[in-house]
Amino acid sequence: MLRREIIVIMEDYLFKILIVGPAAVGKTSILERFIYNRFSENYKLTIGVSFLSKIVDLSENGIIRLSIWDIGGQERFESLRTEFYKGAAGAVIVFDLTKLETYNAIEKWLNEVRHYAGNIPFILIGNKADLLIHFVRVVEKKEAQEFARTHNSTYIETSAKTGENVDEAFQKFSQMLVDTIIKQK
Ligand code: GDP
Ligand code: MG
Repeated sequence: MLRREIIVIMEDYLFKILIVGPAAVGKTSILERFIYNRFSENYKLTIGVSFLSKIVDLSENGIIRLSIWDIGGQERFESLRTEFYKGAAGAVIVFDLTKLETYNAIEKWLNEVRHYAGNIPFILIGNKADLLIHFVRVVEKKEAQEFARTHNSTYIETSAKTGENVDEAFQKFSQMLVDTIIKQK
């Protein structure tokens, strides 16, 4: 007898989220790690806006589908911004733990997010944590945590290379997004 099982995934929430930040901090690599569990050393400039989708299971708090938009190399094209930011429920803002100028650019990115998408929740990520054995940390964890806290956000350090904290970051952020929805109800 032929038995077929059909598994239907019912999502409780669908969120469009954005991943933004300076070039080469590892935005695309974080997504590749999160979605495909892979990593490449080669820097490929992301052409155009790309988007990927993934299910996050928050057990009793529901099943979330994240549709994640990567701003890629479009930082310069103002006309694409409106479309990119439209309907976003949250933003992942990334800097490179070994490059001070990328941390210094975070406020500008946050302002841009707020300008186009309003006061949506964000999570701050310090990426390339694996490099801290060879390079000097340019931002103290406390300082980045403090910045995040003053904006009602959370800070987490990741490595797209080793995978450290990547799932955790999206898990945590998904929970933050659900909490925001619950609070609004
Ligand atoms: P994007 O411009 O922000 O999308 O950055 P990419 O994801 O393209 O990454 C830029 C470069 O940094 C690439 O050469 C990646 O291999 C490298 N990279 C990204 N994340 C990490 C990380 O966590 N650790 C290390 N060591 N390199 C990384
Ligand atoms: Mg990219």
